[in-house]
Amino acid sequence: MTNRQLFLNHIAQTSDSPMGVEIVKAEGCKMWDANGREYIDLIGGISVCNVGHRNPKVIEAIKEQLEKYLHVMVNGELVLSPQTSYAKLLTDNLPASLNSVFFTASGTEATEGAMKLAKRFSERTQIIAFKNSYHGSTQGSLSIMGDEYWRNAFRPLLPDVLHLDFNSFEDLELITEQTACVIAETIQAEAGVIVPKDNWLKRLRKKCDETGTLLVLDEIQCGFGRHGTLWAFEQFDVVPDILLLGKALGGGMPMGAFIADKKLMDCLTNNPVLGHINTFGGHPVCCAAGLAAVNFLLDEKLIDLVKEKEQLFLSLLSHPQIKNVRSKGLMMAIEFESAEVNKKIINALIDKGIFTDWFLFAPHCLRIVPPLTISKNEIDKACAIIISVLNKK
Ligand code: PMP
Repeated sequence: MTNRQLFLNHIAQTSDSPMGVEIVKAEGCKMWDANGREYIDLIGGISVCNVGHRNPKVIEAIKEQLEKYLHVMVNGELVLSPQTSYAKLLTDNLPASLNSVFFTASGTEATEGAMKLAKRFSERTQIIAFKNSYHGSTQGSLSIMGDEYWRNAFRPLLPDVLHLDFNSFEDLELITEQTACVIAETIQAEAGVIVPKDNWLKRLRKKCDETGTLLVLDEIQCGFGRHGTLWAFEQFDVVPDILLLGKALGGGMPMGAFIADKKLMDCLTNNPVLGHINTFGGHPVCCAAGLAAVNFLLDEKLIDLVKEKEQLFLSLLSHPQIKNVRSKGLMMAIEFESAEVNKKIINALIDKGIFTDWFLFAPHCLRIVPPLTISKNEIDKACAIIISVLNKK
């Protein structure tokens, strides 16, 4: 049996139309398949590989950690220097109130942990989220997902969840003293790159302060320089009470985290003791990899180049078939007439050696979220191929 047949027969399928390309190697912004074909990767594992595939600094850090220890004991018991060093780097680069890191094994677990922390801290039950938001696929995260199509089959879900319109000033009035927390992506990714309107996040912050509601910002997809600042919230002059991280956090290894003030985080320590626990959160090898990745991101000043690279993409991606482009830094939604047209373009691009994707709540939009290390040459080449594919459609 070929690997592709094994994949179809024995790997649980998440859709009936998987890309099904067998990847044998990935480096920088490139990937190679089993037939030796080279691809430019314009999605970097969906906003994971911000410092490129197999970044040499990340590989070196992983190897170093492999020589010391892998897993030793469930999270939260032992002092592990990869965890402490990484927590220091993250909190050194965050506002002072975000000083305590709870490492998880995935993004959705960060969302779950934050919701528990908010309920435990506030002794309230209501959670407010936004339409077209994505915070993960487990039951709690699914309950706050902003689209009924994906939620409905799995009911009953968490009670007392309310969905507001993102960017609606009017809807903010629905936040009250009953609300434990409001959870928002700083920039909505799966909605197809929806940026908060002027002052809307500030008004949301103010309403949370007035009602004693915690503000949770999900930067799992939009953090780590993707939008031109280390954290997207920096651009909107707000600081969340709880920050959710994931994806690029692990430099290519599986990781998530929720970060809050220690006084708040301490709620998970008592009554009950072990209020949130896990086995693999903050795995030493993942922390070592993430630490090296963020150091690389900062040392190489990759974030300073994001705007320039965004402009280059935008200047090259002009075509009558493109209805609209929404972009913020190196996260772009290229809008086509329909989801069917977009799928055909994505498949044609794979045949020409370009990896892209669509957005969950905007299936008519092509996703571009490349490693931040992508070179101008690679951008030129990728855009030329995209335009040539559009010319043939
Ligand atoms: N929040 C956002 C904004 C995400 O994009 C994702 C993943 N696409 C998640 C949460 C969930 O992360 P994970 O898939 O690691 O559980």
